[in-house]
Amino acid sequence: MSEANPSLPTESAARAAAARHELTPRMPAFLADLETLVNLDSGTYDRDDVERVSAWVKARCAGWGAELDEHPGGDFADSFAATLHGQGRTRIALVAHLDTVFPHGTAAARPFRIEGDRALGPGTCDMKAGLLAAIYAVEALRSGGFDGFGRLRLICTTDEEVGAPSSRDFLERQAAGADAMLVLEAGRENGDIVGQRRGGGFFRLEVTGRSAHAGVEPEKGRSAALTLSRQVVALHALTDLAAGNTINVGTLRAGSRPNVVPDHAVAEVDVRANTTDDMAALLARAEAALAREALEGTNYTWTPTQFRPPWEANGARCCSGARFDRTPGRRAAVVASPRRNAHRIRRSIGTVGRAGAHRRRRSRLRRANRRYWRHLGRQFHGRARPPHTGRPGAGGRPRPRAAGIRRHLLDRAAHSAARRSHRGHRRGVSETGVSTLRFGAGNT
Ligand SMILES: [Zn+2]
Repeated sequence: MSEANPSLPTESAARAAAARHELTPRMPAFLADLETLVNLDSGTYDRDDVERVSAWVKARCAGWGAELDEHPGGDFADSFAATLHGQGRTRIALVAHLDTVFPHGTAAARPFRIEGDRALGPGTCDMKAGLLAAIYAVEALRSGGFDGFGRLRLICTTDEEVGAPSSRDFLERQAAGADAMLVLEAGRENGDIVGQRRGGGFFRLEVTGRSAHAGVEPEKGRSAALTLSRQVVALHALTDLAAGNTINVGTLRAGSRPNVVPDHAVAEVDVRANTTDDMAALLARAEAALAREALEGTNYTWTPTQFRPPWEANGARCCSGARFDRTPGRRAAVVASPRRNAHRIRRSIGTVGRAGAHRRRRSRLRRANRRYWRHLGRQFHGRARPPHTGRPGAGGRPRPRAAGIRRHLLDRAAHSAARRSHRGHRRGVSETGVSTLRFGAGNT
């Protein structure tokens, strides 16, 4: 926890001091609860396991007299929101997810433990400590008798690690109208909090051509592999690290055997950008590049399978005195202490940041977001396909896919292999020169 921050108004400083006074002796209880939660497996796909964690958290919230709002998760555990109503006006939402990326049995194999100043175990950092930080923060406010908020809501989802297919709508509904929203993922290594997040998505690029025997009648073939390879090179060329725009072709598959011109090729592509405008421009350039590089006689589809718009800096500031990191981060993380190298666990229950009311900027961002979603909507529903799109009926509504996070900006293997096949073409080698392609493991 942070020391008193002289920049805080007196009343807030007094409240922060009271919360600190309340929380410090609770550290052993916090660690005991953390041990309980970490030792309960909650891999996203293990519904019963996640429900057990959910039941633990709900029982705790019920103890506050919070209003519980549950949302059926289908194949996933049910998400829920716990809401407290106060006498003030500000509406605050705390966001946490109950699931982890670790399957059933992981906690038994390597249970919670403390080594030096670090708490370890599956899901400790992502994000059971953050979830508990929310719970302890609410409890500290309550025990101090504070009810100066209008609405204080803890939203717990159960499938964040796979892109929130069942909880996204619920989360959006529950968060609507909030003046401040704090996502309690872990902060940066140095204690910084993250106030901006890149947008990104996965796209499936599927090419069809015409198959032919590579020895007998190569001229009749139209290589899907060659079109895809040209497109891969063109897509990678759009990466602009300085601007924060990146495109990575994470997987490639084409063809069945060396002596057959491949009539089918597929790539999975990761696209990221810092701002809504950048993302729209990048996607427009990508679509133009795909159309330009497609060879005659081949068709392709370019379909988003998962997408998150960029979260641009919105003027939020931190009242703990923590430095506010405005560089793009992969996580929306909020709780942090200003002291570098501070105790990691203490950091996770540090003072909470707060968003300023920058209304004009917010409404500009909302308008930009709406524009962006309209742009995406056209793609999702196939009304704005590029000119080479073939295969009627392909695409359609995207299916959410399992996704963790991997941050390789450029897949050198994909890049150089595609470049080799492209060079072969330019040297006059027949289009049948590349018959099979297969590399890359995933684009998450
Ligand atoms: Zn997380």
